[in-house]
Amino acid sequence: MTEKTVKLINGYEVVIGFETHTQLATQSKIFSRASTAFGAQPNTQACAVDLALPGTLPVMNQKAVECAIRLGLALGSHIAPVSIFARKNYFYPDLPKGYQISQFEIPVVQGGTVSFFVGDEKRTVRLVRAHLEEDAGKSVHDEFIGQSGIDLNRAGTPLLEIVTEPDMSSTEEAVAYAKELHKIVTWIGICDGNMQEGSFRCDANVSVRKPGGPLGTRREIKNLNSFKNMQIAIDYEIRWQIEEIEDGRKIQQATVLFNPDTGETRAMRTKEDSADYRYFPTPTCRRCT
Ligand code: ADP
Ligand code: MG
Repeated sequence: MTEKTVKLINGYEVVIGFETHTQLATQSKIFSRASTAFGAQPNTQACAVDLALPGTLPVMNQKAVECAIRLGLALGSHIAPVSIFARKNYFYPDLPKGYQISQFEIPVVQGGTVSFFVGDEKRTVRLVRAHLEEDAGKSVHDEFIGQSGIDLNRAGTPLLEIVTEPDMSSTEEAVAYAKELHKIVTWIGICDGNMQEGSFRCDANVSVRKPGGPLGTRREIKNLNSFKNMQIAIDYEIRWQIEEIEDGRKIQQATVLFNPDTGETRAMRTKEDSADYRYFPTPTCRRCT
């Protein structure tokens, strides 16, 4: 790769890696025949498989795999001839099975690059992988007093999670990457790109370090769903981390949420490691139609 100019902020180098959840433009869910159409009445598009009723089995949606392969071909990735699904175990009310079906050891798309321009400088960001997984349902907090509702329409919606190496070194570059990836997934027709409806959600992993030093500890800003918010959130996070370090505090690895009303990021939970999820392979069947 050609040397790129890295701008320092108050003497610190910024390091950013992205995880993007793209909702795949299939008619039905990744492991069931329920519709993925947006905006239906709660729980009218959740079938026995999505509800995790005993005795149901996930049946792979061929179209979702084709979408993943199309992205891999567009980005020069290796396409795994055989890939496997894994259970990612965690407890949350919107996850009726108690685990999410995802990919861990062998994702369908491996490596590849996204290239774009920042001003007149060409940048190339390397991908680690892109893996298929199912979305969870949604908790509804504002419609019932003292109670939460669960809407499982979104449970089982196919997602492709696209993970980069920590190759970006400014907010500007990170936003330019996200815009380029958004262009690519909509152009090749695998995602409708509607950020307001959550079809393209970015998690930005941000850390800072002294030039040439070891990588700093990252904090992950979840679910950025507009380019504007992405820019404000990453800028805020960089300034916050530098101030913490300058004040003599250590950065704790954490998952943080961006509040668009205040323009600030706030820690939601300390970060899980993959061991916390107790991944193990899960069977899926092939849909025959
Ligand atoms: P997870 O967040 O699921 O634990 P990974 O360990 O694979 O997953 O890392 C997620 C993302 O964090 C990747 O995009 C990676 O490039 C980025 N990342 C890893 N280390 C750093 C770091 N020190 N600073 C910024 N981003 C990082
Ligand atoms: Mg992550």
